[in-house]
Amino acid sequence: MTIVRRGGKYCLISKKTGRNLGCYRTRAGAERRERQVQYFKHNRRRPEQRQYAVDVDGVLAEMVEAALARLNREWGTHYTKYDLTDWDFWHLLPELSALPEPKQKDKLFRTMEAAWEAGEVRPTPGAAAFMRRLRAHGRVTIVTKTLARDELLREWLRDNDIVYDELIHIPKGSKLSKATFQQFDVFVDDSPKLAEEVPTGKTLLLVDQPWNQNVDMRSHVRRIYSLHEAIPSEP
Ligand SMILES: [Mg+2]
Repeated sequence: MTIVRRGGKYCLISKKTGRNLGCYRTRAGAERRERQVQYFKHNRRRPEQRQYAVDVDGVLAEMVEAALARLNREWGTHYTKYDLTDWDFWHLLPELSALPEPKQKDKLFRTMEAAWEAGEVRPTPGAAAFMRRLRAHGRVTIVTKTLARDELLREWLRDNDIVYDELIHIPKGSKLSKATFQQFDVFVDDSPKLAEEVPTGKTLLLVDQPWNQNVDMRSHVRRIYSLHEAIPSEP
């Protein structure tokens, strides 16, 4: 860190990232801030207390695959997830984009719900072992907006031997509170949107999916190609 003068103020700048860590009227103020930042740097939570947030759809569950299989049966098409190269992927399927605007997403959401109800959603291979191993490294919370009914989701997790410390199942149209979001250190997720939302100091392990190829890689985002890459290496 270094203190530089900017617009008559003393600003603390990170040498590593160039980020402005705060500007103060006096040099003493900036130095105080520097000591504070140092303190947090050296008193980070120990790894065993690390807080993980793990997503369901696209991470633990092959939900898109199940929904697509349904649509393929209905339409006589052969789409695979590799055709879905955008997060808002309903625009990419002509059968969906031909529908009036509100119906596009609606049809997709109903298909996803139906796939869950029919028991067609498979766990990602290795998901159970991954969650078991991850829990040795911290507290693991499943944070998901998946469209499965809550009871069904809990059953699905149990039937597939997927263990966790807590489940936060966010209802459609709701958002995780900022305070809850802030409590996590590491997110294991496939959402390209999350890459923009995760603040510096937190880590997003972005599970590689066709719909997140365009994410701007930032210092706190790491792309992983298998869930096991999210397990910290044993000392
Ligand atoms: Mg997801």
